[in-house]
Amino acid sequence: MLLDPAGRRFADETRRDHNNAMALAAHGGRGLLLWSEEVQRGAAQAPFVPGSPRLDRWAFTRDRGGRATVADDLAALAPVLDRWGYRLPLELDDEARARLGAGPVYAADVVPAITFTFGGVVVDDDGVAVDEAGRAIPGLYAAGADMSDVYHQGYGGGLCLAVVSGRRAGVAAAREDSK
Ligand SMILES: Cc1cc2nc3c(=O)[nH]c(=O)nc-3n(C[C@H](O)[C@H](O)[C@H](O)COP(=O)(O)OP(=O)(O)OC[C@H]3O[C@@H](n4cnc5c(N)ncnc54)[C@H](O)[C@@H]3O)c2cc1C
Repeated sequence: MLLDPAGRRFADETRRDHNNAMALAAHGGRGLLLWSEEVQRGAAQAPFVPGSPRLDRWAFTRDRGGRATVADDLAALAPVLDRWGYRLPLELDDEARARLGAGPVYAADVVPAITFTFGGVVVDDDGVAVDEAGRAIPGLYAAGADMSDVYHQGYGGGLCLAVVSGRRAGVAAAREDSK
């Protein structure tokens, strides 16, 4: 459950990390993340992506001085949330209450992280950078995260884009070099 400092939900949390990060950035840039014991158990035991090491990100955050805590229930969390600057009582709707359940509630004070930017260098079809008038700048190539917004303010992953555009720029540069 993701709440703003007024204690209200503002996003569909089921749309997952990138969409929630963007919603949070557009909604003041700071939020309270709450989750249940069941979610915590799953998140701590399973790797974030298959093959990667397991990491309890809640404990990792807490151990490094981040604002992360756990309490027996929402009422017991109140003093900490108050200290963090969240307006109480939190306005949890039925869906939020059902998802959190009756057991211990985990909490973290979060901000959106940057995995990718929407700015960057505009390139032509060969990956050659172009100037403001759209003219190619010979010998200057851009690829991956340095390229301008290919997703039009959305996010479809940066790794494939980096591989494809990096190869394209490399091939074009080699072709140019061999002339
Ligand atoms: C936390 C996080 C999670 C992400 N998760 C995903 C994901 O799950 N899936 C996905 O598809 N994408 C993900 N991304 C995005 C993806 O990782 C990037 O978009 C992608 O790695 C960009 O590749 P790149 O080659 O353009 O740049 P980079 O991977 O940043 O490579 C640039 C390299 O250039 C080096 N460099 C910089 N300056 C110099 C210099 N002067 N001289 C020599 N070397 C230099 C840097 O050290 C770096 O190694 C994530 C990004 C972050 C930050």
